[in-house]
Amino acid sequence: MDETSCGSEPDPGGRSEQALQLFVLNNETSLLPEPKNPLAPRVRRLRPLSARKPRDTARVPRMDISPQVAQFRRRFFPEATVSEWNDWRWQLRNRIRTVEHLERIFTLADEEREAVRRIGGHLPVGITPYYAALCHRENERDPLRTTMIPVTDELRVHPGEFADPLAEDDSSPVPGLVHRYPDRVLFLVTNFCATYCRYCTRARLVGQTGEFHFNSQQHERALEYIAAHPEIRDVLLSGGDPLSMDDRRLEWLLSRLRDIPHVEFLRVGSKVPVVLPQRVTPELARLLRKYMVWLSVHFMHPNELTREVKQACERLADAGVPLGSQTVLLKGVNDDVDTMKRLMHGLLMMRVRPYYLYQCDPIQGSAHVRTSIEKGIEIIEGLRGHTTGYAVPHFVVDAPGGGGKIPLIPEYLQGRDGNDVVFRNFEGKTFRYYDAVAAG
Ligand code: SF4
Repeated sequence: MDETSCGSEPDPGGRSEQALQLFVLNNETSLLPEPKNPLAPRVRRLRPLSARKPRDTARVPRMDISPQVAQFRRRFFPEATVSEWNDWRWQLRNRIRTVEHLERIFTLADEEREAVRRIGGHLPVGITPYYAALCHRENERDPLRTTMIPVTDELRVHPGEFADPLAEDDSSPVPGLVHRYPDRVLFLVTNFCATYCRYCTRARLVGQTGEFHFNSQQHERALEYIAAHPEIRDVLLSGGDPLSMDDRRLEWLLSRLRDIPHVEFLRVGSKVPVVLPQRVTPELARLLRKYMVWLSVHFMHPNELTREVKQACERLADAGVPLGSQTVLLKGVNDDVDTMKRLMHGLLMMRVRPYYLYQCDPIQGSAHVRTSIEKGIEIIEGLRGHTTGYAVPHFVVDAPGGGGKIPLIPEYLQGRDGNDVVFRNFEGKTFRYYDAVAAG
């Protein structure tokens, strides 16, 4: 690795194909009980990976390209055909990861150039060509660029910041599994992402090799743990980005989880539909529908709502995959009511239900992008009542140290006056509710 490369990185999926195939073959005949849950989807038991054709390498589905993106392709990747550009594997192979490559596209500020050179073992840089086309090439304050290209502030650690702010590693009974809430687990299935977000809560593990090198043995231990704990009814697959895995690996994991009778609810958290919409092929949409997966998509800014992302969301929604969004509140990116409202409105138009707005977790080197908690409450206050209720996400802070998500809402309840409960509405006007039940 030369001095300008941006950190080491595992292959997508983080394990060898041979190891995975052997593992699946060895377990194909395991005598897991048939699902007893009448609501669990009936899915066909899979043949060994080696016996199946790789379905997601065959044909690149057609995707309309936004004018801005098409112009970028012609200028910076003139050798790429439209078919290559629309191929998610081409996008991953051609990610922008070095100072030299960044400088061929962007006019880097000194603090950006220095940060990329000094990034060392920190979260690497990785930007798909598609997403780079959405970032401003000259303006280092551009919201999308801010989330992708590091600045030197990221290398400074402030009081109250931690490598693992949510203490996930302390609630991890087996590597890659976080069991904090009684009935649900977080299953970290890969440490690979299509792009690396500078504010990532799991910056300590994504894009890194070593301790968090996910593999099929680790998956197997996590599956065994889930199978042995009947109280677990909800599994959230995250990482890294689970949709950066290919269809075969993803189906193998989902089918194994669906074989566990008490697992009722499967969720996937992903930024892929936003930064790599080409990955959302009709086959992937059918796969997620087959295993009844709910998808939480990580959106940040209305500039992400392109023609390509619309097609990806339509494919998923048309296939019957429920879509929710999660957004991290970031200074200079989306910390104003107008930006957030445009984002939430755009999501609804793409049939994505705004779900969570997160206070940025205090990871090391995040002070320059974090806002005050009051800013988040102010934004929710600017949305609630002023726009469609469906467009208002839950604002939550994930309590440092592992306290879980704490919802925060503006103070609408003013207090009690005798048998009256006093409220203020979204316009600040006061109203009373005669609380007959309390009055007796
Ligand atoms: S896609 Fe998710 S896991 Fe990957 S770097 Fe971004 S926030 Fe982190």
